[in-house]
Amino acid sequence: MSEHLAPRGSESVAPGAEYAATASSAYRAALSVIESVEPRIAAATRAELSDQRASLKLIASENYASPAVLLTMGTWLSDKYAEGTIGHRFYAGCQNVDTVETVAAEHARELFGAEYAYAQPHSGIDANLVAFWAILAHRIEQPALAEYGVKGINDLSEEDWETLRQRFGNQRALGMSLDAGGHLTHGFRPNISGKMFHQRSYGTDPETQLLDYDAVRRAAQEFKPLILIAGYSAYPRRINFAKMREIADEVGATLMVDMAHFAGLVAGKVFTGDEDPVPHAHVVTTTTHKSLRGPRGGLVLATKEYAGSVDRGCPMVLGGPLSHVMAAKAVALAEARRPEFQTYAQNVADNAKSLAEGFLTRGARLVTGGTDNHIVLLDVSGFGLTGRQAESALLDAGIVTNRNSVPNDPNGAWYTSGIRFGTPALTTRGFGAAEFDRIAELVVDVLKQTTPTATAAGAPGKAKYSLADGVADATKAASAELLDAHPLYPGLEL
Ligand code: PLP
Repeated sequence: MSEHLAPRGSESVAPGAEYAATASSAYRAALSVIESVEPRIAAATRAELSDQRASLKLIASENYASPAVLLTMGTWLSDKYAEGTIGHRFYAGCQNVDTVETVAAEHARELFGAEYAYAQPHSGIDANLVAFWAILAHRIEQPALAEYGVKGINDLSEEDWETLRQRFGNQRALGMSLDAGGHLTHGFRPNISGKMFHQRSYGTDPETQLLDYDAVRRAAQEFKPLILIAGYSAYPRRINFAKMREIADEVGATLMVDMAHFAGLVAGKVFTGDEDPVPHAHVVTTTTHKSLRGPRGGLVLATKEYAGSVDRGCPMVLGGPLSHVMAAKAVALAEARRPEFQTYAQNVADNAKSLAEGFLTRGARLVTGGTDNHIVLLDVSGFGLTGRQAESALLDAGIVTNRNSVPNDPNGAWYTSGIRFGTPALTTRGFGAAEFDRIAELVVDVLKQTTPTATAAGAPGKAKYSLADGVADATKAASAELLDAHPLYPGLEL
């Protein structure tokens, strides 16, 4: 085992402390080389580290990858074209990329207990595109080709291909609505998925704001989707995937789960049994850079039945894989297979509970009344603010979040009425329950001292606000105490 993959003590959750000195030299050398070619890029890279070190990062989709993961991305693996699949490439000389992709897929299969893993997607959106087309190919193209008596689509005449293409389009997909926490790629109009599919959404219960499985079942039975999509970007609760599979089976749909947000909680065995999507879904997609704490990228997991279609991601919707990023995925997945990643994942969930409790005890309102994953969704309408005003005021005070719709949001998707908080990043820095309670206190203080201001026309604006004097500085000072106690990349000096 190499130095950077040596096991760490389970008490340490911040990855990389044990090789910080070596990583410091590597980064210093790299930045001086970059500086000699384009100093502005070296400066922006240094500034980004200082900014990240100095802010309370509560964006639910972000994290801090280990220096091992980050360093893996900066190599000549980036220079190699390797379109195709392991052992079957359209380019010569891909033996090392074959090794990289094999190791990444092997770690992914072992970590998640999946029958098949595809490590090529460049991002979450790509992983979903691969999955959609793989499902369409598996469910429609294969039986249709059998009908025409040919082996592959290239064997079809122009006319038969045209007929088949008509049957590919306009399939039905059923996914969670955007304002209940679903993602744009789950069939919504601004995304290509909304153009590929007739889409219908399921929402949440108007009273509890929790997923209503009976309503999902009713929608599925009425709409008869080809694909039932489960997964979310802003739903603060766990999902019962066994129930979702039951519903999919009842209507003959393929169950696709997008676990981009909560993959780290699956990897860390916080979500098990019915809450683990892998044993229940036909196809699972994820990003690797959120709670999973890897490089920016995507991954598709599938049952053996769907493996062949998923493997056609390239050339179906992908070109050459990012071999350097696949290498970094392998390193991150190796890290996630260590026992201390389970401690990390449990801390992520425990910290979210502490943050939620901290808000509730201070009188704030949370969507669904709490959390049992890594997300807390605060309804800021009780403070008389829009999400946009709250997000900006918090940023002025050094607290980085993002605004988000709440179910049936009266302010729409741009201004919104919510702020989404997530615990993965600060948990990586070693923040615990007490620090998250203190964060809740700081956030509530800032929001209480923020007032919406009038527009030029005199009406209350949805974007303008004013923060009481001194609040931003006082909050930054209080945050600095928390941040100094839990440095980002401890021991890493540029
Ligand atoms: N799926 C879900 C559930 C997400 O939350 C996101 C990103 O926020 C994506 C897919 C898209 O990921 P990417 O930004 O890597 O394309």
